[in-house]
Amino acid sequence: MKIKSADFVMSNSNVTNCPKDQLPEYAFIGRSNVGKSSLINMLTQRKGLAKTSGRPGKTQLINHFKINENWFLVDLPGYGYARVSKKDKKTFQKYITDYFIERQQLVCAFVLIDIRHEPQKVDLEFLEWMGENQIPFCMIFTKADKLKPKAIENHVNTYIKQLLEGVWEEAPHYFVTSSSNGLGQEELLGYIDELNTN
Ligand code: GDP
Repeated sequence: MKIKSADFVMSNSNVTNCPKDQLPEYAFIGRSNVGKSSLINMLTQRKGLAKTSGRPGKTQLINHFKINENWFLVDLPGYGYARVSKKDKKTFQKYITDYFIERQQLVCAFVLIDIRHEPQKVDLEFLEWMGENQIPFCMIFTKADKLKPKAIENHVNTYIKQLLEGVWEEAPHYFVTSSSNGLGQEELLGYIDELNTN
């Protein structure tokens, strides 16, 4: 897919205020600093489309960008814990979970994971939450340029193994990317293109 246009449409903190258009939607989410803004800018080839670290503000909102006039890229805030429930089970910010549960236009969410780190509890819990709620998602490993090919393979395999030892019966679809050298860009856009045409 060639990116012909990428335009910021709106930011808000409530799923009910998201655009009324029925365009297919793809959401990007991950822990703060995972490389989400850099990835969005790399994918769309627009340097300042998503605000990278050091420029806080919009990061706590649901940000809609219209791509090629025919789909929405949604930049979601970094997740964390909103509160601890009675059972001491961690939960995620309500407007994020509301977005995933209520947004009919969502075709696929991309959950970003920094490829350098060991699987983190918060990420595993978030993936589990997505599964429990039957939200369609893929994983995106970011910052692959920081590792050698063999290490990339090892880290991905370790991650997948850990998922399969947990609640997952099948490994989620995943991509390996780098915003520094463009790795994964064509594959990811091709995947979205394919979903859009089906
Ligand atoms: P966000 O908080 O998830 O939006 O993360 P940012 O996109 O702002 O990136 C956080 C930090 O990681 C910044 O210092 C980026 O320059 C760096 N970064 C992001 N993506 C990559 C990548 O693919 N490769 C490398 N080497 N650094 C990256």
